[in-house]
Amino acid sequence: MESEINKEVDIAIIGGGLAGCTAAIALAKSYNVVLVDQTDSPPERIGECLAPAARRILKQLDLLEGLEKTRLDSEQSLHLKHIGTQSYWGTEQAYVVDHLRNPDGFGWHLDRQAFEIYLRETALQRGVNCFWPAKLQSAHFENHRWQLSATANDKVSNNLLYRFKAKFVIDATGRQSQFARKIGVGREQYDKLISCWLTLPNQEANKMSTISASEFGWWYSAPLPHNRRVLALQTDPDLISRNTLKNVDQFIQLAQSNQQMARLIQRNCAATNFHQIVSANSTRLNQIAGQQWVALGDAAMSFDPLSSQGMFNAMAAAVQLTELIMERDSTGSLAPQKLKDIQISYTQQLDQIWAHYMHHKKTYYRQEMRWKDADFWKRRH
Ligand SMILES: Cc1cc2nc3c(=O)[nH]c(=O)nc-3n(C[C@H](O)[C@H](O)[C@H](O)COP(=O)(O)OP(=O)(O)OC[C@H]3O[C@@H](n4cnc5c(N)ncnc54)[C@H](O)[C@@H]3O)c2cc1C
Repeated sequence: MESEINKEVDIAIIGGGLAGCTAAIALAKSYNVVLVDQTDSPPERIGECLAPAARRILKQLDLLEGLEKTRLDSEQSLHLKHIGTQSYWGTEQAYVVDHLRNPDGFGWHLDRQAFEIYLRETALQRGVNCFWPAKLQSAHFENHRWQLSATANDKVSNNLLYRFKAKFVIDATGRQSQFARKIGVGREQYDKLISCWLTLPNQEANKMSTISASEFGWWYSAPLPHNRRVLALQTDPDLISRNTLKNVDQFIQLAQSNQQMARLIQRNCAATNFHQIVSANSTRLNQIAGQQWVALGDAAMSFDPLSSQGMFNAMAAAVQLTELIMERDSTGSLAPQKLKDIQISYTQQLDQIWAHYMHHKKTYYRQEMRWKDADFWKRRH
């Protein structure tokens, strides 16, 4: 039998990833917030680097100590220090950016799953109404409120149906932008970049991330927690055969055609954990905010992983949005006129970030001219 949960809240956040959790934690001090996610627990992701500047956000939200305390055992931190990146881009000489002199200190090679579990648990502890699994099904606007429904179609929850009424909605559902899509907002795709990746045991002493360009895309490798290493190829789907992207041996063989990757993986090809292809292209919602709603993180705009900024941007935008709401809504009523002001200012802020990102992306890709006649590079120059 189907059971139902009804809730009326100030703010409904759809998507309990990095963007959604950060916004929920920041907003819960002042508002009644509901946070829903379609997954019971966060899925495994490619090993990602969190930029040193995120330290300021983590500190501001009182999350830093908890993150650094997360231990693998009594000795070792779960999340590894990210000391910097060596890139072979435009030349076979390594260009190194290390974080030694970065005023924010080091970044992190995250155990992304563990990090998201930590954020979800913190949101719960700080008074956010959290529901998962709960997948957004419908959204419509009536009497100055959003009416949302979500379902938990798992066996444990027995077809539980959620109904939420909210003054304000934050779409933090990642690249799928599920809320915006349901209300008819489209998404612009700026390229077709995909990422194909695997993890393997790490025996290399080199603790830096490595980026290395090739004719048909670029490779990425970095150490991960639990003594693993990620190896990823970013390319366009029409440039590499489907078989190569689905077959571990062929993929490893392709990686070995790149001198830097061959160096990093030569001794540890044996045991591999091959993951699927994921979208890694630059995309953006045609409308980032509307009547009593905004999109946040990848739902608003998703970046090429070359920028290594997606997670930081998601967290920074969550904090900026919270500050904007607190500044404009001094009475805490979330009145429609105040929300209109927030919608305009938030859109302007994100437009600036996007313009900045596109400029940097173009500049960076133009620095690689060794294969200027190859399709992958021609499309980006
Ligand atoms: C190959 C690759 C490498 C990357 N490397 C880096 C890196 O090194 N550094 C970096 O900073 N960034 C990196 N990124 C980007 C980073 O992963 C994203 O920017 C970040 O995950 C965005 O977080 P988010 O919370 O906005 O979205 P997501 O993490 O996608 O979270 C969205 C959440 O919404 C939930 N959801 C979706 N639909 C629904 C629904 N209908 N109902 C309820 N819940 C829903 C999902 O379950 C999920 O939990 C990389 C991305 C890729 C593809």
